[in-house]
Order: sequence, then structure tokens, then C-alpha cells
Amino acid sequence: MNTCASDLLTFIKKSPSAYHTVRAVSDELKAAGFTELSEGDAWHLTAGGKYYVTRNLSSVVAFTLPEATLPCGFMIAAAHSDSPSFKIKEISDSEVAGSYTRINVERYGGMLCSTWFDRPLSAAGKVTVAENGKVVSHLVDLDADLFMIPSVAIHMNRNANEGASYNAASDMQPIAGTAAVKGGLKAKLAEAVGATEDAVLATDLFLYPRTEGCVWGLQNEFVSSPRLDDLQCVYGALNGFLQANNRKAMPVLFVADNEEVGSSTKQGAASTFLYDVLVCVIEALGGSPADYRRAVARSFMVSADNAHAVHPNHPEYADPNHRPEMNKGIVIKHNAGQRYTTDSVSSAIFTAICRKADVPLQHFTNRPDMAGGSTLGNIANTQVSLNTVDIGLPQLAMHSCYETAGVKDTDYLMKAMTAFFSSSLRMDADGVYGIE
Ligand code: ZN
Repeated sequence: MNTCASDLLTFIKKSPSAYHTVRAVSDELKAAGFTELSEGDAWHLTAGGKYYVTRNLSSVVAFTLPEATLPCGFMIAAAHSDSPSFKIKEISDSEVAGSYTRINVERYGGMLCSTWFDRPLSAAGKVTVAENGKVVSHLVDLDADLFMIPSVAIHMNRNANEGASYNAASDMQPIAGTAAVKGGLKAKLAEAVGATEDAVLATDLFLYPRTEGCVWGLQNEFVSSPRLDDLQCVYGALNGFLQANNRKAMPVLFVADNEEVGSSTKQGAASTFLYDVLVCVIEALGGSPADYRRAVARSFMVSADNAHAVHPNHPEYADPNHRPEMNKGIVIKHNAGQRYTTDSVSSAIFTAICRKADVPLQHFTNRPDMAGGSTLGNIANTQVSLNTVDIGLPQLAMHSCYETAGVKDTDYLMKAMTAFFSSSLRMDADGVYGIE
């Protein structure tokens, strides 16, 4: 198997929830010599140092400091740690049909519901426990085949193949066993964190499919897995970030939670998390508010979130002239309504960096009569406003619980991100930039 594809699948397996994504990213950063900071402490930073800080255990900002004096800009890449899923409710199970224990869930994000049926599921997330007079959060991955959302048999629903609709309250609730196991989930969680059931105060737990990722196709050209949106971009951006060498600007990696539910949380792209970290960095280096503003003026953001490849059975859903193909390179996303932040300046700057790195580019716009999706870039710009390009890797079946992308495109993203994080931007005038 292509090593990059198998490393990507290993990374995704370690990341069954947004919390685990951030832990997987943090583990890589720690192994590369990064120091963890806490938002609650004063920061003492040294030139050339490497640092990261998490919020809610589900978002992370990492940065490396140059040797150069202020002001130098930030070269930021943003991607998201979460994926559409089902969140387990506070009262987590109930007896149904006199025979089963059902897990009570609600939708998190806009998933393709049909893909969640008839496959083994597990749960992962955060469990918060009373421990020695404190409230302590533990990450939990139950890592076993525990739940299933069963289809209704064709014999009982003859219209099942004629366009189905799914009701989240009645159709999408998984079972966990017979009526006798009611209460068993709470016991399992308590055991997983080494606490009594009474000490488990609250949970943030999400279902995930147990199906493993694979590389397939007559020439092994495709990779399929849960959560490729957006862990393929997180993985590519992280590896580019770790491989880069920058003496003039500050590379910043921002992996944000809650993109799938609109980003408006304390740790999402609409929060002050990125802004707070960048301001703290400038302050810790002895800079002023004016230094912060000048740094942002010579900064750039790549908002990386997967894009739609042209569909083999439904090419009509793609704009006739903008049809990204898998394994043909990174997609720059455009939208006149600015749901994607790309404009001529940001597209040109990113194109120049990719040309230098010999990475192919493609372009995407929605069909003009289709609304399309949204992403991180324009939301993050409400807190830190700077030149931003929206990009992604082309994929099929976005928001299925098992998605498909091109093997080569992960390599392209890593290469482009290494070049991006090694670059710096000089602002000569509004609209006039030098790339070094
Ligand atoms: Zn996404």
C-alpha cells in the first residue's frame, strides 16, 4: 500500500471523535518537540520555539516562532476535527419493543443517514468525572462492536428503494442488545475511566462506524474510510506543518471543532480561539497591538476542507466547467457569495506557492443553481481577517459514513502545505504582495 495512504488510515483510526483527532495531532506535535501551553497560564516563549495549545480538548492551535524580529506574518492553515455523527443523549438508553435496549441519540451535523444502517458501530468522546474534589475529563474510545441501526426489511417496506426519507427520532436509533442490558452503557463507561458509575458526571459521546479504511481500485488509486472529510486535510496540513522550515514567518496550524454544526462554539472557527492565541504570541514576544495588526496584514490563511469530485453516476450535479477529479490535485474553491473566501489575490498567492512546489491545482464552483456547502474560512475571518483561500481534496460521497478520495491527493496536499508553511508574505501595498 502507498505509505502515505496507510499512514493516513492509521491517523483516521486513532481519531474516532474530534477529541481523539486533537489528541492524535498533539501526540505528533509532542513527538516533534513541541511544548504544550495552557490558556490559563502566562506564556514565556523563546525565538525558534515550537508550541501548541488546545481548547475543549477538541480544537488545537500549534505554531513555530521564527528567529526574526517582529513584525512577521502568520502562515495559517485551518481544517476541522469533527465529522457528522450521532451524539449519545444524557439519558443514554431505553427499552423498546419489549425486547431491546436502544441507545438514545441525536444527529450531529448533516450526514447521509442511509449509510449508517446495518453496520457495527462504537462510541468515542469525552467523559467527565468527579475525581479527588475536581472535575476531570477523560477521553474514551469503547473500541468494540457495540451498536447497530437495523434497516426495515424490504418485505415490510415495499417502497424502500423508491426514494427514502429518514426520521432521526424513529429511524436512526441504534440498539445495543436485549432489554436485559439496559444501563450497561453507563457501567461500561465507568469501567473505561476507572470510576464508579456515580462519579461519572456527564459525557460527550459520539457514534462511529467500525468499518476500517482501505485502498482499492484496479491500480490502488482510491482510498475509502470514515471521516476523510476533514481528516485527510488535517493529516496533510499537519505533515506539511511538521516538515516545513520557516525563518521569516510564523507557521500556524489550526484544527477546529464544530465545523459540521456551524462553528459557533467556544472552540469553533467562529470563536476567539485563533485570535486569542495569535495575540498572546505577539504579547509574549514583547509586541504591541499595532504589531499584531501589522503581522495580520502580512499573513495568509489556507482553509482546507474537502471538495466534491465529479460523480461517476451523476456528473450533472457538477458545474459543467468545474469538475474536479480525484488524483488530479488540490481543488481551489470559488463562490461569488463568498461562502468560500477565495478571491483573485488569495487564489493567485496559493497558485504561485503550488506552482513552485510542482503541485497540480483544479478549480471548483457549485452549479449556479445549487447552494453547495459551507466551511471554515469565511467564519474564521470574522475573528481574524486576512487574505484566505478555500481549498480541499476532491472526494466522493461527502458526509457518508464511508467516503472515497484519491490516494495521490494526500501527497499533493502535504507537498503544498510544506511549501506554504515554509513561505512568507511581504505586503508592499493593498493588493501587492511579495512571496518569499
Ligand atoms: Zn468538511
